[in-house]
Amino acid sequence: MTKKGRVFSGARPTGRQHLGNYLGAMRNYVALQAEYECIYCIVDLHALTTMETTQELRQNTYDMALDWLAVGIRPDDSIMFIQSHVPQVTELHTILSMVTPLGKLTDLPTFKEKVRQQPNNINYGLVGYPVLMTADIVLYKAGLVPVGVDQAPHLEFARETVRSFNYRYNTTALIEPAMKITEVPKVLGIDGQQKMGKSLNNHIELASTPEETRQRVMSMVTDPQRLRRTDPGNPDICNVFSFHKTFSPAEEVAMINRECRIAGIGCVDCKKRLAANLNLHLEPFRAYRAELDQRPEEVWEVLYDGARRARTIAEATMVEVRAAIGLPEKKE
Ligand code: SF4
Repeated sequence: MTKKGRVFSGARPTGRQHLGNYLGAMRNYVALQAEYECIYCIVDLHALTTMETTQELRQNTYDMALDWLAVGIRPDDSIMFIQSHVPQVTELHTILSMVTPLGKLTDLPTFKEKVRQQPNNINYGLVGYPVLMTADIVLYKAGLVPVGVDQAPHLEFARETVRSFNYRYNTTALIEPAMKITEVPKVLGIDGQQKMGKSLNNHIELASTPEETRQRVMSMVTDPQRLRRTDPGNPDICNVFSFHKTFSPAEEVAMINRECRIAGIGCVDCKKRLAANLNLHLEPFRAYRAELDQRPEEVWEVLYDGARRARTIAEATMVEVRAAIGLPEKKE
């Protein structure tokens, strides 16, 4: 089937993935493969801008790749690789940094936010983060980048950088990526308050055992107004119900929606049902993941092969970029 175009997306190596990662990105990654040529990158260099220790970097990279494959990324079809395995990205990053005004980078809200978060580690890489991100995208001539509305300014920055480069060197070597605005649901953690994330330990990992998953679900915060079993609840403000809407059959969702409001179902029962449905949903994923995990060398080979294919595209772009600038030709 002819694909509509090329999509690029990257994610930091955060290790074993959780439901927030799944609903926010991975599910979409899998779906996009039907219509687009997809390039999915584990951005380990980006991770270094905020990382204090790197001992777990390798394992986290492997675990994330394993989860991506288990959930349905097809390596024969899509390119899946590690950012640092394509050195051309750092070359393009350097080149693009020359057409990027420093003030534009330090004015970005995301940079200011990072300064607040890690005032003692304002490194040079952190300032240039959006330039590296631009290099990631344009190196592969990706026409489309799936982004949530909140990430739209980053992509606009990438588009402006491409325009600056092409204008400065009077070329069309780089193409402006278009945004594919994707509805990214805000997935709350089991605390029902904050976005699901590992650092807050409010997450549910996809690869958890059924029992671990059940325990996490049973500790979920529900409608805070519903104090007793006999109190009517409000599913509209209950995080447990949000997950039911994604993972439970429609008739069960309708029943909970009705019965919760008249205290016809208790929260314990409601959570048990969610845990059962969630485990059912994750069963095939876990089985495939465990099977893949028996052969770690194959998982690494997927990443190495992805990097080989990515480097071919990247080098072709860099030949054009170097020629457009007028850099002396390279000979191996
Ligand atoms: S019954 Fe279910 S939907 Fe209603 S408040 Fe309890 S956990 Fe939430």
